[in-house]
Amino acid sequence: MKNPHDVCGEGMLPEDLEPREYEDDVPLLLSLVIPVCNEEDAIPVFLKKINEVFENQKAILLEMVFVNDGSQDRTLKCLLEQQKKDARIVIIDLSRNFGKEAALSAGLKFAGGRVVVPLDVDLQDPPELIPVMLEEWRKGYEVVLARRVKRQEDSWAKRVSAGCFYRIHNTFAMQKLPENVGDFRLMDKSVVDALNSLPESCRFMKGIFAWVGFRRTCIDYARPARVAGHTKFSAWRLWNFALEGITSFSTIPLRIWLYLGASIAFLDFCYGLFILMRTLIFGVDVPGYASLLVTMLFLGGLQLIGIGILGEYLGRNYLESKHRPIFLVRKIYREQKGA
Ligand code: UDP
Ligand code: MG
Repeated sequence: MKNPHDVCGEGMLPEDLEPREYEDDVPLLLSLVIPVCNEEDAIPVFLKKINEVFENQKAILLEMVFVNDGSQDRTLKCLLEQQKKDARIVIIDLSRNFGKEAALSAGLKFAGGRVVVPLDVDLQDPPELIPVMLEEWRKGYEVVLARRVKRQEDSWAKRVSAGCFYRIHNTFAMQKLPENVGDFRLMDKSVVDALNSLPESCRFMKGIFAWVGFRRTCIDYARPARVAGHTKFSAWRLWNFALEGITSFSTIPLRIWLYLGASIAFLDFCYGLFILMRTLIFGVDVPGYASLLVTMLFLGGLQLIGIGILGEYLGRNYLESKHRPIFLVRKIYREQKGA
């Protein structure tokens, strides 16, 4: 049976596709967008792997856009050293750590390829899948998603919480997120242009990717472990990320309070009527301290949650209303041709 949360190839018939004809003598410019934050150990391993994968792909012209997201270690130095050996490396050095979503937005802005692939530097997004994705792109798809079929390398808690997040998000949000799909995907230039045209500063990229639509398909892969370093996403950061995801793409959490308030008011009205009748029939009944306290605390708690959710949206509105840029670039390093 089709999983209702599987929205990979949604709304598209394969016969609608127009295959892309690419002559082998016209090289295809492929941009990799790699956000990096404290990844000095992973960068050499990543570049070695990329060279292995692409050394025989003569028809592909590669550009690697590394976005240094406020690293505190030797990441920038390491990138500059590598750039001396490999002119395909472009380094976008951000002025501080803006978070992976902003770093990804920066990379997409500077990527010039006909096709663009964002991927992590820790090789958890296997580069050997890119040629397979390109085959799908040649068939006419504009987005090729990489779906994690096995995520044994992620902890049990991470897998369960990710599963809950997708279910809650997809229940609330208009644009459903394909399950178990991260930022690793291949995108046509037209998709990247659409992403770059979105002005919002709260960037939940998974939601933004889903929102822009386009013709998409999926390929499956098993997610390997990190090659070096450690994850930058603590449980607390993931929780905030999930909250951002849900509040950025749905106003249903706000609307729930309308229905909850109406239901409680109705129950309250019935209970009030019952008390009134009981007092009229049996006279004044003073005891009731416990039920009063429980009701007050319950309603007080509900109101606080409601105010909290309002605040969450108000906060986002406040941040958006400042119109601050999503990221600031300290310097762009490009190897000069012929230098
Ligand atoms: N990253 C980043 N800025 C951050 C956190 C992470 O650019 O503030 C980069 C990181 O260097 C890596 C990618 O985002 O290339 C994914 O991070 P990580 O592997 O820690 O995430 P996980 O795979 O554990 O979800
Ligand atoms: Mg990782």
